[in-house]
Amino acid sequence: MFPSVTLHPMTQATSDTKPYAPDVKEHTAVVVRLGEITLKKKNRPMFIRQLGRNIRTALKGLSIRDADWTPQRIVITPGPNSDWEEIRDRLQRVFGLRNFSLCRVLPWDEDTIREGVLEMAAKDRFESFRITVQRSDKRYPSTSQEMERDIGAAVKAASGARVDLTNPERTLQVEIMPSGAYLHTERIDGPGGLPVGVSGRVVALLSGGIDSPVAAWRTMSRGCQVTFVHFQSFPYLDASSRDKAIALTKQLTQWQYKSRLHVCSFGDIQHKIVAACPPPLRVVLYRRFMVRIAQAIAEREHAEALVTGESLGQVASQTLSNMATIDQSATIPILRPLVGRDKEAIINEAKELGTYETSIEPDQDCCTLFVPRNPATHSTVDQLLAAEEALDVDALVADGLDSIETLNFSWPLERAGD
Ligand code: ATP
Ligand code: MG
Repeated sequence: MFPSVTLHPMTQATSDTKPYAPDVKEHTAVVVRLGEITLKKKNRPMFIRQLGRNIRTALKGLSIRDADWTPQRIVITPGPNSDWEEIRDRLQRVFGLRNFSLCRVLPWDEDTIREGVLEMAAKDRFESFRITVQRSDKRYPSTSQEMERDIGAAVKAASGARVDLTNPERTLQVEIMPSGAYLHTERIDGPGGLPVGVSGRVVALLSGGIDSPVAAWRTMSRGCQVTFVHFQSFPYLDASSRDKAIALTKQLTQWQYKSRLHVCSFGDIQHKIVAACPPPLRVVLYRRFMVRIAQAIAEREHAEALVTGESLGQVASQTLSNMATIDQSATIPILRPLVGRDKEAIINEAKELGTYETSIEPDQDCCTLFVPRNPATHSTVDQLLAAEEALDVDALVADGLDSIETLNFSWPLERAGD
């Protein structure tokens, strides 16, 4: 079990002159460095508390003994037999982390630290190196420069490698903290961004396509908790798009730990639109109904915006005027994180995220039902309102909401490969 993150700073340096030395037994710890959060002033405690919770959830089920924080760092102490690779993989999916290192923690003692760095260097082969000492607790008696020179000379003599301060093959790092001397050779990049949960909730329109999962992920990276809504045309089409939406939601749950997916049966609404409205406006009308239903879900879930994967000019329905007529059906903002992205860049991002393979599986998406030969690339609000005169908008939205099936997912997902 992962204990709660202690919400008080570690002992801070004081002007006290009596020598201080932490009571440390050698052990292993993961030092996590925070990203943009450190720039926040007033909200910082709230951000760090949320990040602590997220780290705790991300590492659920792994052996963790302790966690503590300083204003710039969180220190996690893995338990016995902990699986470092699994911890690393999971931390790489925690938004708000700048980078992290697996460290050997030693007492504040010159000889022990030098010996520790020499052992770290001996495990490795390199032609050039540098020593970096960061003294975040000034009560440590030597300066960073003195330590760098002393340890550097010892490593040089033992390894035969040369010192290179600008472009070293290996950087051997020592961080002096109030809780010990932390030694490591590697800073592993985290995803950056803000901890999921600090920016409130949004509802993402998740198709089975490439774009919308990437768009949802981008809002998560800015601290949003995402609820998903998928529209399917079952029983007019098969349920393959629903299966993809479920698979994508599971993949994205790795980044936000708890997800809800609402699956709405949209086929009857499409039939009514097709029977009563001009064919070129169909796609924009579909989108306006999706937005209305998503917005009703947003109200229930206290979400403050919708998210789509639209990108300007990518397809006929994604022009400025169509976006404007779609927006007119909403009273909360519609976020379009991909609006200025090329398809190729979005594809690359989806590949990195791991959603691409799922997205390209063939499916029967509801938007392929009754696609007009010439969809309008330009539409006006007046045209749309006139077309909707032929429909009972409120009743259709209510029917759509009644059809919703809600699925919940939480991390860690139940079965391997889920
Ligand atoms: P995607 O790859 O995300 O499907 P796309 O390029 O295929 O996007 P469209 O089909 O025009 O674009 O859809 C635009 C946006 O509308 C999608 O990114 C998504 O947010 C939303 N959307 C489209 N179809 C659905 C659906 N069946 N369920 C939920 N949202 C949808
Ligand atoms: Mg699509």
